[in-house]
Amino acid sequence: MKNLDVATFFDEIADILEILDDNPFKIRAYRKAALNVRGLTEDVALLARADRLEEIPGVGKDLAAKIVEIVKTGRLKHYEELKRKVPEAILDLMAVPGIGPKTAKLLYEKLKIKSVEELEKKAKAHKISGLPGLKEKTEENILRGIELIKKRAERMSLKEALDLSGEVVAALKKNSPAVKRIAPAGSLRRMKETVRDIDILVTSDKPKNVMDAFVKLPMVKDVLAHGPTKSSVLTDTGVQVDVRVVEPESFGAALVYFTGSQAHNIHIRHIAKKTGLKVNEYGVFIEKTNRKIAGREEADIYKALKLTLIPPELREDRDEIEAAAKGRLPKLIELSDIRGDFHVHSKWSDGAHSIEEIATAAKKIGYEYILVTDHSKRLKVARGMTEKDVLKKLKEIQKINEELKGIKILSGAEVDILSDGTLDYSKDILKKFDMVVAAIHSGFKESKDKLTMRTVRAMETGLVQILAHPTGRLMGVRPAYELDFDKVFKVATQTKTCLEINAFAERLDLDDVNSKAAMEAGVILAIGTDMHMLDQLGSIKLGVSVARRAWLEKKNVLNALRLEDLLKFIRK
Ligand SMILES: [Zn+2]
Ligand SMILES: [Zn+2]
Repeated sequence: MKNLDVATFFDEIADILEILDDNPFKIRAYRKAALNVRGLTEDVALLARADRLEEIPGVGKDLAAKIVEIVKTGRLKHYEELKRKVPEAILDLMAVPGIGPKTAKLLYEKLKIKSVEELEKKAKAHKISGLPGLKEKTEENILRGIELIKKRAERMSLKEALDLSGEVVAALKKNSPAVKRIAPAGSLRRMKETVRDIDILVTSDKPKNVMDAFVKLPMVKDVLAHGPTKSSVLTDTGVQVDVRVVEPESFGAALVYFTGSQAHNIHIRHIAKKTGLKVNEYGVFIEKTNRKIAGREEADIYKALKLTLIPPELREDRDEIEAAAKGRLPKLIELSDIRGDFHVHSKWSDGAHSIEEIATAAKKIGYEYILVTDHSKRLKVARGMTEKDVLKKLKEIQKINEELKGIKILSGAEVDILSDGTLDYSKDILKKFDMVVAAIHSGFKESKDKLTMRTVRAMETGLVQILAHPTGRLMGVRPAYELDFDKVFKVATQTKTCLEINAFAERLDLDDVNSKAAMEAGVILAIGTDMHMLDQLGSIKLGVSVARRAWLEKKNVLNALRLEDLLKFIRK
């Protein structure tokens, strides 16, 4: 997929325009298009071919033509011309999250810093805080930003990994009829929020045929190793993909072994040892006689160890083995349990589609309800809605609900939590919605106390049903802000406020660990896709994967409620 390439070009153009003090509207247009292209679940190249690029919010004729150029040639003339106007070092420095064009220019011109490595050295030696406008806090932020890029260089988002492994599996099946069973393993199969590389396991009676087909797949850029049963490649997006052919009678054992995590594997090996068994990537064996007693299916491996089958998402050695030994694993929520989406943006704010289009698409998925949550007035960059428009929107929803059967549109808003913790609409307006989602969109760098205060006060208004993206993180861009979670969870249960698992690919917020802690504190989680385009409704699966990694069952997730029960919940 070329989506990332396109988004990167647009982001870099915006950066350069910022350095050149160009028109802020133009800059914002590029940023917005980059964000939306990055969030697409469809391949931008396919959209280009179908002449559908202008369906992407923020993409008009001009940007569509640029996308076509990138898809066709892998390059962009306009970008290359712009790039010549600024020193490359400034661009490199701006790649560090938290360093804007002004700071980058300053570091380059005043301190003659020409690379990120130099920057890291000077920041560590406290040689930056002396500059006008740069404080000690900036040094800290710079170092944290450098850590972030280091991590980003190593890992891709879960969504990118799912897309890529899906493409590789499909292409391999198509190009090698010798492929029998095939499954991705690794942290991708555990649905970790970021993934380093992709491991795929295959069974086949002609391994050579599979290997030869694999190293010639269209997305392969470099072949790192080409062996009889194992090969490694680098894709054109710089990701390492390994494919191994294993014996059919060892497939289950290999899946357990390569799905990991390491801590999980060590723990089950330890359990095997205690009962005179040995477990490895080929199977479970009786230690003394070396006789194999399991290997073909994963369930057999766990059964041999007197454990119930542990879902891949739980294999982190966070008590899942103890629970499996007692037969007490949770019955995890599944995608098919989801009956609606609690976070969608329509054309009324910064979404691309009308409420009717969204509701029709949601009905097609099989949803019973959908909560339309357009931005409130403060958020002007996202076309936040005035009170007057809210009233019009409520009328429109009523009308569509009368006409469109089989799905209920719930009226809502994603209302800004202001800096003092009050909400961006009056009580009178908020009471008119079926449900209110509240979110912090400004002041991310405030103190933990302040952010906790804002969060808690918003919930204590009693007017909010869901707190959206509770820690504000955008992976690769800004880290989660700190909150006093004990306090937040306590107030959430007291005020019956749900915390969101935002399923947008770069958010996944709350994350798995905090979602689990919230559930254990008695909080209900609500999954919302934060969709701005129809195809983003599909990212609900990312939200479900977070919920599963957090040990959530149907009873912990608001989206599992039938419409009638949800309406009862709202009335309460
Ligand atoms: Zn938001
Ligand atoms: Zn939103």
